[in-house]
Amino acid sequence: MIIDCHADTLSRIASLGEHLRDNSGHFDLNRARNAGVELQVLSLYSPERDSKLALEDILGQIDYFEQEMVSCGEVAYPVRNLKDLKDSNRTGLMLHLEGAEALGTRLSNLRTLYRLGVRSIGLTWNHRNLLADGVMDAASGGGLSEWGREVVCEMNHLGMVVDLAHISPAGFKDAVDISSKPVIVSHANTYSLCNHPRNLQDEQLQVIAAVGGIVGITFVPAFVDRAEASIERLVDHVCHMHQIMGEDHVALGSDFDGTDITVVPDVSSYPLLVEHLEKRGLTTSQIDKLLRGNFLRVLKDIL
Ligand SMILES: [Zn+2]
Repeated sequence: MIIDCHADTLSRIASLGEHLRDNSGHFDLNRARNAGVELQVLSLYSPERDSKLALEDILGQIDYFEQEMVSCGEVAYPVRNLKDLKDSNRTGLMLHLEGAEALGTRLSNLRTLYRLGVRSIGLTWNHRNLLADGVMDAASGGGLSEWGREVVCEMNHLGMVVDLAHISPAGFKDAVDISSKPVIVSHANTYSLCNHPRNLQDEQLQVIAAVGGIVGITFVPAFVDRAEASIERLVDHVCHMHQIMGEDHVALGSDFDGTDITVVPDVSSYPLLVEHLEKRGLTTSQIDKLLRGNFLRVLKDIL
Protein backbone atom coordinates (compact mmCIF):
# COMPACT_ATOMS: atom_id res chain seq x y z
CA MET A 1 0.00 0.00 0.00
CA ILE A 2 1.08 3.55 -0.72
CA ILE A 3 0.66 6.87 1.08
CA ASP A 4 1.78 9.98 -0.80
CA CYS A 5 2.22 13.35 0.95
CA HIS A 6 1.72 15.67 -2.02
CA ALA A 7 -0.04 15.96 -5.38
CA ASP A 8 -1.51 19.00 -7.15
CA THR A 9 -4.21 16.99 -8.91
CA LEU A 10 -7.17 18.76 -7.35
CA SER A 11 -6.19 22.32 -8.29
CA ARG A 12 -5.25 21.06 -11.78
CA ILE A 13 -8.55 19.29 -12.47
CA ALA A 14 -10.58 22.10 -10.91
CA SER A 15 -9.04 24.58 -13.34
CA LEU A 16 -9.49 22.24 -16.33
CA GLY A 17 -12.92 20.88 -15.42
CA GLU A 18 -11.55 17.32 -15.37
CA HIS A 19 -12.39 14.59 -12.87
CA LEU A 20 -10.74 12.75 -10.01
CA ARG A 21 -11.89 9.36 -11.20
CA ASP A 22 -10.26 9.56 -14.59
CA ASN A 23 -8.22 12.44 -16.06
CA SER A 24 -5.37 13.35 -18.40
CA GLY A 25 -2.82 14.06 -15.64
CA HIS A 26 -0.45 12.01 -13.45
CA PHE A 27 -2.99 10.88 -10.86
CA ASP A 28 -6.56 9.66 -10.98
CA LEU A 29 -8.55 7.26 -8.85
CA ASN A 30 -8.77 4.50 -11.44
CA ARG A 31 -4.98 4.27 -11.68
CA ALA A 32 -4.46 4.96 -7.95
CA ARG A 33 -6.63 2.03 -6.90
CA ASN A 34 -4.76 -0.32 -9.21
CA ALA A 35 -1.46 0.95 -7.81
CA GLY A 36 -2.62 0.35 -4.21
CA VAL A 37 -2.75 3.99 -3.10
CA GLU A 38 -4.26 3.95 0.38
CA LEU A 39 -4.03 7.68 1.05
CA GLN A 40 -3.27 10.66 -1.19
CA VAL A 41 -2.79 14.19 0.10
CA LEU A 42 -4.29 16.67 -2.38
CA SER A 43 -3.20 20.31 -2.47
CA LEU A 44 -5.42 23.33 -2.61
CA TYR A 45 -3.41 26.07 -4.32
CA SER A 46 -4.16 29.63 -5.41
CA PRO A 47 -1.66 31.92 -7.16
CA GLU A 48 -3.47 34.95 -5.64
CA ARG A 49 -1.47 36.93 -3.08
CA ASP A 50 -4.49 38.90 -1.93
CA SER A 51 -5.98 36.91 0.92
CA LYS A 52 -9.64 37.44 0.03
CA LEU A 53 -9.09 36.35 -3.57
CA ALA A 54 -6.98 33.39 -2.41
CA LEU A 55 -9.68 32.31 0.05
CA GLU A 56 -12.31 32.51 -2.69
CA ASP A 57 -10.15 30.27 -4.93
CA ILE A 58 -9.51 27.77 -2.14
CA LEU A 59 -13.19 27.55 -1.17
CA GLY A 60 -13.99 26.96 -4.86
CA GLN A 61 -11.51 24.06 -4.96
CA ILE A 62 -12.95 22.57 -1.75
CA ASP A 63 -16.41 22.76 -3.32
CA TYR A 64 -15.06 21.06 -6.46
CA PHE A 65 -13.63 18.31 -4.25
CA GLU A 66 -16.95 17.85 -2.44
CA GLN A 67 -18.79 17.52 -5.74
CA GLU A 68 -16.23 15.02 -7.01
CA MET A 69 -16.67 12.99 -3.82
CA VAL A 70 -20.39 12.66 -4.49
CA SER A 71 -19.69 10.90 -7.77
CA CYS A 72 -16.64 8.89 -6.57
CA GLY A 73 -18.01 7.53 -3.32
CA GLU A 74 -17.48 3.87 -4.19
CA VAL A 75 -13.78 4.35 -5.05
CA ALA A 76 -12.64 7.15 -2.70
CA TYR A 77 -13.48 8.89 0.56
CA PRO A 78 -12.26 11.99 2.38
CA VAL A 79 -9.89 11.41 5.32
CA ARG A 80 -10.22 13.87 8.18
CA ASN A 81 -9.11 11.72 11.09
CA LEU A 82 -7.01 8.64 11.42
CA LYS A 83 -9.96 6.47 12.36
CA ASP A 84 -11.30 7.18 8.86
CA LEU A 85 -8.31 5.30 7.47
CA LYS A 86 -9.43 1.72 7.60
CA ASP A 87 -11.17 1.23 4.32
CA SER A 88 -8.59 -0.55 2.20
CA ASN A 89 -10.84 -0.99 -0.83
CA ARG A 90 -11.08 2.73 -1.48
CA THR A 91 -8.48 5.49 -1.73
CA GLY A 92 -8.47 8.00 1.11
CA LEU A 93 -8.01 11.65 0.15
CA MET A 94 -6.76 14.33 2.54
CA LEU A 95 -6.83 18.08 1.85
CA HIS A 96 -3.72 20.25 2.15
CA LEU A 97 -3.42 24.03 1.75
CA GLU A 98 -0.24 24.94 -0.17
CA GLY A 99 0.65 28.49 0.96
CA ALA A 100 -1.35 30.14 3.74
CA GLU A 101 -2.44 33.33 1.91
CA ALA A 102 -6.11 32.31 2.22
CA LEU A 103 -5.95 32.63 6.01
CA GLY A 104 -5.59 36.40 5.78
CA THR A 105 -4.97 37.46 9.38
CA ARG A 106 -7.79 35.55 11.02
CA LEU A 107 -7.58 32.33 13.00
CA SER A 108 -11.30 31.97 12.27
CA ASN A 109 -10.35 31.29 8.62
CA LEU A 110 -7.91 28.60 9.79
CA ARG A 111 -10.55 26.95 11.94
CA THR A 112 -13.13 27.16 9.14
CA LEU A 113 -10.76 25.44 6.72
CA TYR A 114 -10.14 22.79 9.37
CA ARG A 115 -13.87 22.21 9.68
CA LEU A 116 -14.04 21.86 5.88
CA GLY A 117 -11.51 19.03 6.05
CA VAL A 118 -8.10 20.70 5.55
CA ARG A 119 -5.61 18.76 7.69
CA SER A 120 -2.26 20.11 6.52
CA ILE A 121 -0.87 23.53 5.59
CA GLY A 122 2.31 24.59 3.82
CA LEU A 123 3.02 27.87 5.59
CA THR A 124 4.37 29.57 2.45
CA TRP A 125 4.72 28.89 -1.24
CA ASN A 126 7.89 30.23 -2.91
CA HIS A 127 7.29 33.91 -2.17
CA ARG A 128 6.94 35.85 1.08
CA ASN A 129 3.54 36.00 2.76
CA LEU A 130 2.22 37.25 6.10
CA LEU A 131 3.54 34.17 7.92
CA ALA A 132 7.13 33.97 6.66
CA ASP A 133 9.49 34.35 3.70
CA GLY A 134 9.28 31.73 0.96
CA VAL A 135 12.46 30.03 -0.24
CA MET A 136 12.64 32.08 -3.45
CA ASP A 137 12.12 35.34 -1.54
CA ALA A 138 14.49 34.84 1.36
CA ALA A 139 17.19 37.46 0.71
CA SER A 140 16.27 39.49 3.78
CA GLY A 141 16.54 36.40 6.00
CA GLY A 142 13.01 36.71 7.41
CA GLY A 143 11.70 33.89 9.56
CA LEU A 144 8.24 33.40 11.03
CA SER A 145 6.24 36.54 11.81
CA GLU A 146 4.23 36.85 14.99
CA TRP A 147 1.19 35.83 12.91
CA GLY A 148 3.08 32.82 11.56
CA ARG A 149 3.78 31.73 15.12
CA GLU A 150 0.11 32.08 16.08
CA VAL A 151 -0.88 29.95 13.08
CA VAL A 152 1.60 27.17 13.95
CA CYS A 153 0.36 27.10 17.56
CA GLU A 154 -3.29 26.90 16.49
CA MET A 155 -2.45 24.18 13.93
CA ASN A 156 -0.76 22.17 16.70
CA HIS A 157 -3.84 22.69 18.86
CA LEU A 158 -6.32 21.65 16.13
CA GLY A 159 -4.26 18.68 14.93
CA MET A 160 -2.98 19.80 11.53
CA VAL A 161 0.26 18.89 9.79
CA VAL A 162 2.79 21.77 9.59
CA ASP A 163 4.45 21.47 6.16
CA LEU A 164 7.72 23.35 5.57
CA ALA A 165 8.13 22.67 1.83
CA HIS A 166 8.79 26.03 0.06
CA ILE A 167 9.62 28.01 3.24
CA SER A 168 12.84 30.04 3.69
CA PRO A 169 15.69 28.60 5.79
CA ALA A 170 14.96 31.08 8.61
CA GLY A 171 11.24 30.24 8.54
CA PHE A 172 12.12 26.55 8.59
CA LYS A 173 14.20 26.98 11.72
CA ASP A 174 11.58 29.09 13.53
CA ALA A 175 8.75 26.69 12.69
CA VAL A 176 10.71 23.66 13.91
CA ASP A 177 11.52 25.51 17.15
CA ILE A 178 7.97 26.57 17.83
CA SER A 179 5.96 23.52 16.73
CA SER A 180 5.04 21.16 19.55
CA LYS A 181 4.48 18.36 17.01
CA PRO A 182 6.72 16.81 14.33
CA VAL A 183 6.92 18.91 11.17
CA ILE A 184 7.20 17.60 7.63
CA VAL A 185 8.58 18.72 4.29
CA SER A 186 6.05 17.15 1.97
CA HIS A 187 8.01 17.38 -1.29
CA ALA A 188 11.76 17.99 -1.57
CA ASN A 189 15.03 16.14 -2.17
CA THR A 190 18.59 16.65 -0.95
CA TYR A 191 20.69 19.73 -1.73
CA SER A 192 23.90 17.69 -1.45
CA LEU A 193 22.97 15.74 -4.58
CA CYS A 194 21.09 18.47 -6.47
CA ASN A 195 21.68 22.10 -5.57
CA HIS A 196 18.15 23.41 -6.15
CA PRO A 197 17.07 25.98 -3.53
CA ARG A 198 13.92 23.93 -2.81
CA ASN A 199 16.02 20.94 -1.77
CA LEU A 200 17.11 20.47 1.85
CA GLN A 201 20.57 20.89 3.34
CA ASP A 202 21.90 17.95 5.38
CA GLU A 203 21.48 19.97 8.61
CA GLN A 204 17.81 20.50 7.78
CA LEU A 205 17.36 16.77 7.14
CA GLN A 206 18.91 16.08 10.54
CA VAL A 207 16.57 18.56 12.21
CA ILE A 208 13.48 16.94 10.65
CA ALA A 209 14.66 13.53 11.87
CA ALA A 210 15.39 14.90 15.35
CA VAL A 211 11.79 16.13 15.77
CA GLY A 212 10.34 12.87 14.43
CA GLY A 213 9.12 14.31 11.12
CA ILE A 214 9.47 13.19 7.53
CA VAL A 215 10.59 14.41 4.13
CA GLY A 216 8.65 13.26 1.06
CA ILE A 217 10.99 12.50 -1.86
CA THR A 218 9.74 14.26 -4.93
CA PHE A 219 9.68 13.28 -8.58
CA VAL A 220 10.18 16.77 -10.09
CA PRO A 221 13.17 16.43 -12.45
CA ALA A 222 14.75 19.77 -11.44
CA PHE A 223 14.86 18.57 -7.81
CA VAL A 224 16.35 15.18 -8.76
CA ASP A 225 19.26 16.20 -10.99
CA ARG A 226 20.08 19.38 -12.91
CA ALA A 227 21.48 17.42 -15.87
CA GLU A 228 20.16 13.84 -15.90
CA ALA A 229 17.12 13.25 -13.74
CA SER A 230 16.07 9.61 -13.52
CA ILE A 231 14.59 7.11 -11.08
CA GLU A 232 18.13 5.81 -10.39
CA ARG A 233 19.17 9.30 -9.42
CA LEU A 234 16.04 9.67 -7.25
CA VAL A 235 17.07 6.50 -5.41
CA ASP A 236 20.46 8.18 -4.76
CA HIS A 237 18.52 10.85 -2.85
CA VAL A 238 16.71 8.15 -0.83
CA CYS A 239 20.03 6.52 0.07
CA HIS A 240 21.55 9.87 1.06
CA MET A 241 18.53 10.67 3.24
CA HIS A 242 18.75 7.24 4.87
CA GLN A 243 22.40 7.96 5.67
CA ILE A 244 21.70 11.40 7.15
CA MET A 245 18.27 10.85 8.75
CA GLY A 246 17.86 7.11 9.19
CA GLU A 247 15.16 5.03 7.53
CA ASP A 248 12.26 6.29 9.67
CA HIS A 249 12.04 9.77 8.19
CA VAL A 250 11.79 9.38 4.43
CA ALA A 251 8.40 9.21 2.69
CA LEU A 252 6.79 9.94 -0.70
CA GLY A 253 5.98 13.44 -1.97
CA SER A 254 5.38 12.83 -5.65
CA ASP A 255 4.22 16.33 -6.69
CA PHE A 256 2.12 14.60 -9.34
CA ASP A 257 0.29 17.18 -11.46
CA GLY A 258 2.44 19.97 -10.00
CA THR A 259 4.77 19.84 -12.99
CA ASP A 260 4.60 18.55 -16.57
CA ILE A 261 7.02 15.64 -16.35
CA THR A 262 7.98 13.54 -13.32
CA VAL A 263 10.78 10.95 -13.09
CA VAL A 264 8.26 8.39 -11.89
CA PRO A 265 5.94 9.03 -14.85
CA ASP A 266 2.53 8.68 -13.16
CA VAL A 267 0.68 6.97 -10.33
CA SER A 268 0.61 3.66 -12.18
CA SER A 269 4.44 3.62 -12.24
CA TYR A 270 5.09 3.06 -8.52
CA PRO A 271 6.15 -0.56 -9.24
CA LEU A 272 9.05 0.90 -11.28
CA LEU A 273 10.23 2.85 -8.24
CA VAL A 274 9.94 -0.24 -6.02
CA GLU A 275 11.96 -2.24 -8.55
CA HIS A 276 14.76 0.34 -8.41
CA LEU A 277 14.68 0.46 -4.60
CA GLU A 278 14.97 -3.34 -4.44
CA LYS A 279 17.77 -3.34 -7.00
CA ARG A 280 19.66 -0.91 -4.74
CA GLY A 281 19.34 -3.35 -1.84
CA LEU A 282 16.65 -1.72 0.30
CA THR A 283 14.85 -4.25 2.48
CA THR A 284 11.09 -4.89 2.34
CA SER A 285 10.73 -3.15 5.68
CA GLN A 286 12.69 -0.09 4.51
CA ILE A 287 10.59 0.12 1.35
CA ASP A 288 7.33 -0.19 3.31
CA LYS A 289 8.39 2.61 5.64
CA LEU A 290 9.16 4.83 2.66
CA LEU A 291 5.97 4.02 0.78
CA ARG A 292 3.62 4.16 3.74
CA GLY A 293 4.77 3.62 7.31
CA ASN A 294 6.74 6.76 8.06
CA PHE A 295 4.07 9.29 7.07
CA LEU A 296 1.42 7.16 8.77
CA ARG A 297 3.40 7.33 12.02
CA VAL A 298 3.49 11.15 11.81
CA LEU A 299 -0.23 11.32 11.03
CA LYS A 300 -0.97 9.11 14.06
CA ASP A 301 0.90 11.60 16.21
CA ILE A 302 -0.79 14.71 14.79
CA LEU A 303 -4.37 14.06 13.66
ZN1 LIG B 1 4.95 22.65 -4.17
